[in-house]
Amino acid sequence: MSIRLKLSFLIAAAGLVTALIFSASVLFEMLEQPIRVMDAELKTIAYESVVTLDQAGAASLKDSRRYWIKIYKAGVYEPLYVSHIARHINLPEENKRKALAYAYVPDEVSYVEHNSDGLTAFRIRRMVIEQEHSTGTYEDDGDGDDEGYEDNKTSYVVYAAISAERIKGEIVDLIVVVILGLLLSVIVLTVISYIIAGYILQPVRAMNLRTRNITEKNLSLRIPIKENCADSDEFNTLAITLNGVFDRLENAFNRQKRLIADASHELKTPLSIMRLITDDVTIAGNITPEDASRLSNQVLRMERLVRDILNLSGLELDRAVVSERVDLKSVLEPLTEDYTLLASGRNIQLTMELKGSLYVMGDYDKLFRAFSNILDNAVKYSDKGGEIKISAERRDGRVEIRVFNTGEGIPAAALGKVFEQFYRVEQSRASRYGGSGLGLAIVKRIIELHGGTVSIESCAGESVTFSVNLPAE
Ligand code: ADP
Repeated sequence: MSIRLKLSFLIAAAGLVTALIFSASVLFEMLEQPIRVMDAELKTIAYESVVTLDQAGAASLKDSRRYWIKIYKAGVYEPLYVSHIARHINLPEENKRKALAYAYVPDEVSYVEHNSDGLTAFRIRRMVIEQEHSTGTYEDDGDGDDEGYEDNKTSYVVYAAISAERIKGEIVDLIVVVILGLLLSVIVLTVISYIIAGYILQPVRAMNLRTRNITEKNLSLRIPIKENCADSDEFNTLAITLNGVFDRLENAFNRQKRLIADASHELKTPLSIMRLITDDVTIAGNITPEDASRLSNQVLRMERLVRDILNLSGLELDRAVVSERVDLKSVLEPLTEDYTLLASGRNIQLTMELKGSLYVMGDYDKLFRAFSNILDNAVKYSDKGGEIKISAERRDGRVEIRVFNTGEGIPAAALGKVFEQFYRVEQSRASRYGGSGLGLAIVKRIIELHGGTVSIESCAGESVTFSVNLPAE
């Protein structure tokens, strides 16, 4: 069942429950009303009959043929007066003050509103009325005794009844009207709720339509959102969240696409060189030591490239790193040892200064790879006889590692780009050292996975400083 239908039914059900409670209370009050009117009518006729009977005798009582009346003198068994219909209809004379009684209405009194199929309902009241100089009404408490009488007063016990069939019919009519009204309101409510639900769910339909159109060829398409905060609702928030998801998907998709395009481009050069060498070898019939060395260099370059591509695409898929306690000293010290050897070969002086506790949470191997890439660059791009300084310290709950190297540096315009994949400041300078162009992209991804940041400063023509900032453990 669609949400629109579900919403309509739920609203209609809630409306029905409210209407039921309301109509039940109104109905209850409306049903009471005619009974109260009947009771008042019976009380009046009883009072008037007793007054006439007391003053002028039973013969002067006018029989309206509408009321069932029996009047007794208190304590006397025989009634003083029995109305016309009371002679034909047998109603129980109980001590109850007010009651509903049922009896068959014979044909002789068929003018009384009656139920032709069975028993007819009568409202019957028992009243004790005193007559003296002034007339007073005494409402019997229903316990049957005649307490409160005084000897100089004449007390009459009156049973007065009236057919309740008309009222019964009215009650049935009323219930039917209420039920029909309820049914009608449920139908109207369902239709209105259906229209309202359609209006409320309109943004969902629009979102659904737009989302369906977003494909790999159409990844930049977004769900329209309301910019005005006052118009914003839950659906707008959902649209903003979905747009955020699409942004991330588009970025990841584009990064992968670029990686494939760039990687193919990067592989083209070594492959062309290798093809030229193998062509030469085929023509010459043998391979010179020079060609063998060039061939081996290109194979090494391709190997490095493929390894870095695999590393980077693996890191792209990682959401988080293995989190263990890593002492950055145990990362930086062995690296410094290795690179000191390499640096001394080019007469570069390498120094290291580590201060305080350098514990972070993360993946030892990945951190090792990141700092190895930075140091590798520092050695590669330092001038002969230059200087490399590694320093690390803990400050404000973070660990900051700085790697400084002298050399040609990086021009200001290129600083923002060196972390992009396959970006090289100078193609010739980088390929001289056989770099893949992915080293710093890998560094950035690893540091980000550790919740850290990496930045770069450079005095063009003089030096470069890499700063890595990681949350301390
Ligand atoms: P590569 O494999 O070419 O070294 P990287 O991603 O590691 O690729 O570096 C990108 C570019 O940034 C390099 O080609 C180089 O031009 C520049 N670069 C990186 N580190 C340094 C450094 N320490 N000194 C000077 N230039 C650097």
